[in-house]
Amino acid sequence: MLRAMQNPRQRYRLRAPASGREAISTVEPGRTYVDRESGEEMKVVAQTLPLAPSESALLRTPENLRACRRCDQLIGLDVSDCPYCGLRQPALDGES
Ligand SMILES: [Zn+2]
Repeated sequence: MLRAMQNPRQRYRLRAPASGREAISTVEPGRTYVDRESGEEMKVVAQTLPLAPSESALLRTPENLRACRRCDQLIGLDVSDCPYCGLRQPALDGES
């Protein structure tokens, strides 16, 4: 029987009941989480998806791909050097 692996990076949605403020954080059992602004204790309300975030959690969808100017291979927006030809990629414009 396989047991589900416990992922230490599982994130939870936390909510401060009175103010309704929410935060996403990893949670350690037995620890109290307090909203930084109101000082109110935050309750865990839900696990966030995906349940098991991994290094490949960022999907390689067209929105976060770009074509290398030299070899035209599609590479991730967050990649600084083309993995195919090694061309240094220009910094992204605008926000993010
Ligand atoms: Zn390239």
